[in-house]
Amino acid sequence: MKLRTVLQKAVLRRRLERDATVTAAKLRNQPPGPDRDRLVRHLKRVQLALSRIRWRDYGVCAACGQPIADARLRLMPTAGTCAACQKKLDAHASAERR
Ligand SMILES: [Zn+2]
Repeated sequence: MKLRTVLQKAVLRRRLERDATVTAAKLRNQPPGPDRDRLVRHLKRVQLALSRIRWRDYGVCAACGQPIADARLRLMPTAGTCAACQKKLDAHASAERR
């Protein structure tokens, strides 16, 4: 593994850990409702991303197994799929809502 990738992963991991801490703190003061649900969902995504870093498959698309682009991970550290697969999933989800 390239050093650059290792460093990027460490930076992302710190960001995610901080995000998890901040979100957990917000949750403690958040009354039940849609805002709380949103925080719970966000915390779950962050924790999932953190556990994927620990399993060493972080940054790999869960759908096609290809590496997720660095730019996408920087923008969305909790991304579990590559942009192409996410597009397909979104299209599928919106088709089901219709
Ligand atoms: Zn993919």
